[in-house]
Amino acid sequence: MIPFPRETELSSEQLPLPQSFTLVLPQTFEGLEAVLFRFQDFYEQQKAARPELFTAAPMKLRLLQMPRIAASHKDMHLISIEPPKITLSAKSMDGFRYAFSSLKQLIYLATSSPAGKLNCGRFIDYPSYDYRGLHLDESRHFFGMNTVKSYLDYMADLKLNYLHWHLSDDQGWRLESKRFPLLSEIAAWRKQQDGSRYGGFYTQDEIRELIAYAADLGITIVPEIDLPGHSLALLQAYPALGCEPHKYRSANSWGVFEYILCPGKDATMDFVKELLQEYCELFPGPYFHIGGDEVPKTVWKRCPDCQARMRQLNLQDYEALQGWFTDQLTGYLKEFGKKAIAWDEVLDGAVDKSLIAMLWRGDAIDAAKLAAANGNSYILCPNKICYLDWKPTADEDGAHGVSTVENVYSLSPQRYARPDLCLGLQANLWTEYVYNPQDLYHRLHPRAVALAERAWNPTGDYAGFASRLKALEDYFAALS
Ligand SMILES: [Zn+2]
Repeated sequence: MIPFPRETELSSEQLPLPQSFTLVLPQTFEGLEAVLFRFQDFYEQQKAARPELFTAAPMKLRLLQMPRIAASHKDMHLISIEPPKITLSAKSMDGFRYAFSSLKQLIYLATSSPAGKLNCGRFIDYPSYDYRGLHLDESRHFFGMNTVKSYLDYMADLKLNYLHWHLSDDQGWRLESKRFPLLSEIAAWRKQQDGSRYGGFYTQDEIRELIAYAADLGITIVPEIDLPGHSLALLQAYPALGCEPHKYRSANSWGVFEYILCPGKDATMDFVKELLQEYCELFPGPYFHIGGDEVPKTVWKRCPDCQARMRQLNLQDYEALQGWFTDQLTGYLKEFGKKAIAWDEVLDGAVDKSLIAMLWRGDAIDAAKLAAANGNSYILCPNKICYLDWKPTADEDGAHGVSTVENVYSLSPQRYARPDLCLGLQANLWTEYVYNPQDLYHRLHPRAVALAERAWNPTGDYAGFASRLKALEDYFAALS
């Protein structure tokens, strides 16, 4: 199975696959309908592929609520395959979701084996990290509802539970705002180098639909609005938020651009606060990502409003100004009941230690030291390891370095400062050079599988992972 389970106890017995299951549920039980329907669909597909394997008799599939023992993990679950029934026991809904993901793989392995039978035994499992993330950039390229749903399906099968959704950048704003309608009318669009118009955005109804879809799968969406840098699309719609009067245009090329938001202007801070409030009401999850990466300070250095802000607050340098900006946003988010996440550049200035840092620069060793020194919790997604826009093999074309499956699998949280501050791991998929869902899946798979296993149980070894991945190759291919 992938991710590798904690405890496996196999018996020599094998169980023929039944024509159907009789579901036995606890009396008070709801919230798993979507998972059960998905399991049913999967089972019908398996039956259609090799109908001769399935015996006529139905089998009991029993779901049991585990007692709430404080000492064991909230998502602990047990799968017991013993004739004449299969029992899934869990403490939480997520525990049941994970048990069903595992059971699907076991059924797939049975139907693809020569005997066509389930191996009997017991599996006990729970995750090492509560944050197991996958990132998707939709500013550079916009993929739409169906692709995001497939992305979420894929995540669910790997027990990844946070989608970090990068919804704004220099090249486009992808999230409707009722309060600031120019974000979808203007900021969502860019003029391509050939003169054509490119863009799109999600309406708030679509966002609610995706949030509900994700929630059924046990996945929380973490929206990211990248501030104060990477904000040309925002400035195209609302130029007064910048330091200088300027005819801003969303970028149609890739890189870091000097025009950014002006933290010296009260109107900019008011705008950001109102916008965050609106989006916090839209997204129910506990986290909100405020960006903070790649912020050139060139325009701040010549802006009288930024200078005045620094004098007023007695800030010594421009990193401190970004630190102040970050702390203001962290404070707004706290008012709206959310925790702020930001890229690790924010640690170059002093920031509130309630902020969660997403460590990405280089191998993230130095960034972890900064987080540890300041006491910030962190999520690991080092550039050199977890960036899936990097080439999966050396012989492919591409703009970045190479990060193979084995390299992704090498991510080891224990190598980093204060591993107790590590909330989890994440792989990031930037889409400058990803043009369609096929490209997206090629970048994603199987490297996201390696990340998922490291985030679930980092005690496995690569050789074992590679052989399990091979056995499940067609299982994952069917998800694409
Ligand atoms: Zn300014």
